[in-house]
Amino acid sequence: MSPPRVAIIGAGPAGLAAADLLAGAGCRVDLYDRMPSAARKLLMAGRGGLNLTHSEPFDRFLARYGAAAPHLEAALRDFPPQALRDYAAGLGEATFVGTSGRVFPESLKASPLVRALLARLGAHGAVFHPRHAWQGWTADGTLRFATPDGEASVCADATILALGGASWPRLGADGGFVPLLRAKGIAIADFRPSNMGIRIGWSDHLRDRFAGAPLKRIALAFAGTTVRGEAVITRDGLEGGAVYALSARLRDALASGPVRLCLDLRPDLEAAALAGRLAAASSSLSFANRLRRAAGLAPAAISLLHEGRSADPADGVTDAVKLAPGALAARIKAVPLTVTGTQGLERAISSAGGLAWNELGADYAVTRLPGTFACGEMLDWEAPTGGYLLQACFATGRAAAKGALARLGLA
Ligand SMILES: Cc1cc2nc3c(=O)[nH]c(=O)nc-3n(C[C@H](O)[C@H](O)[C@H](O)COP(=O)(O)OP(=O)(O)OC[C@H]3O[C@@H](n4cnc5c(N)ncnc54)[C@H](O)[C@@H]3O)c2cc1C
Repeated sequence: MSPPRVAIIGAGPAGLAAADLLAGAGCRVDLYDRMPSAARKLLMAGRGGLNLTHSEPFDRFLARYGAAAPHLEAALRDFPPQALRDYAAGLGEATFVGTSGRVFPESLKASPLVRALLARLGAHGAVFHPRHAWQGWTADGTLRFATPDGEASVCADATILALGGASWPRLGADGGFVPLLRAKGIAIADFRPSNMGIRIGWSDHLRDRFAGAPLKRIALAFAGTTVRGEAVITRDGLEGGAVYALSARLRDALASGPVRLCLDLRPDLEAAALAGRLAAASSSLSFANRLRRAAGLAPAAISLLHEGRSADPADGVTDAVKLAPGALAARIKAVPLTVTGTQGLERAISSAGGLAWNELGADYAVTRLPGTFACGEMLDWEAPTGGYLLQACFATGRAAAKGALARLGLA
């Protein structure tokens, strides 16, 4: 008897993980992607060091998925962070734990992992079909693809959709599947940016002089949550780890208008100690030199002290130059920033929204589409940066593959 044929659409981490498991189990796997090569977003993630997963205790790890944690729990327990580390090691990529508990491959790149996965798929007889853009189904239910040679239709015993979310669409995942599935009556939450930068109306001076400047060892506070980390000034706001960590809350709060964010430029110093240093600084120093020497602030940080006021002139915030040491220290520790919006999907690290959980069975089967499974970022979950995104993509890719194996009678 010939092996069952499985079509996997989307060659990102979720699709590759599913393909690897199914090909290894003896299925005939065809992997399709609309792009000319596989895993473009994963390879882009590799440019930033590739934070593969996180080493914190499982319960804390699971909680990072917020409202989606109960849905993802079984897949993550079945393929937890250590399993992903072992999996990477099995592909020749040993991992290490960084100081923050984040886990990285030793090469700090994605390309060796992607190459090894594609080589193993090839060895198991799986075939990768680049430049195959899935277009839905023909009237008799076969899969339709647009290819450089015209339309192709494909019959499969099971189909796995691993189409990604909608951030960075130029890397392949553009949310184009949404109307195809909605036309079948399947509920999909609109995609929204997640882990993205925020918009702040900088003065021309700050934008022209300091766009691109890093803000190291800062803290950002919003609605009772304080995050320490780093950020980068952009032409229209801020981006970077500390911003991404708050970005989902900010995004949700922005639905009702601009919000106020507090930036602490010296989170390591108490306000009283900072005020003492400022008071002790020579009065002959210029404002900027006093801040540089007494508070250790870089020019970009000093410039930001003037922004709280110009961002919202009506709010009565006093010009920093006029403040006495105590009040100046308080300002350094709570620069008020008015956030007017977020960056769009095109620059977000990931997306929120996607295929609703109540459309999926526990085996990741799409209930309304017999023989079809879904996995990865196209499902309705979001998580912060820290390796949580890739971990859930690999874990759900494997869960969908196991679901397909069971339906095919091979589990
Ligand atoms: C700059 C950047 C850095 C990141 N860094 C990290 C990190 O360090 N750690 C981390 O955990 N996460 C990181 N991420 C997020 C992570 O890369 C994604 O969450 C992950 O790639 C999603 O995997 P996926 O397989 O679900 O989807 P994708 O990786 O998006 O793959 C989906 C695939 O489906 C294909 N496709 C879509 N529609 C069709 C169609 N109609 N027909 C055919 N093919 C189609 C796409 O071309 C794509 O190849 C980063 C993301 C970005 C943008």
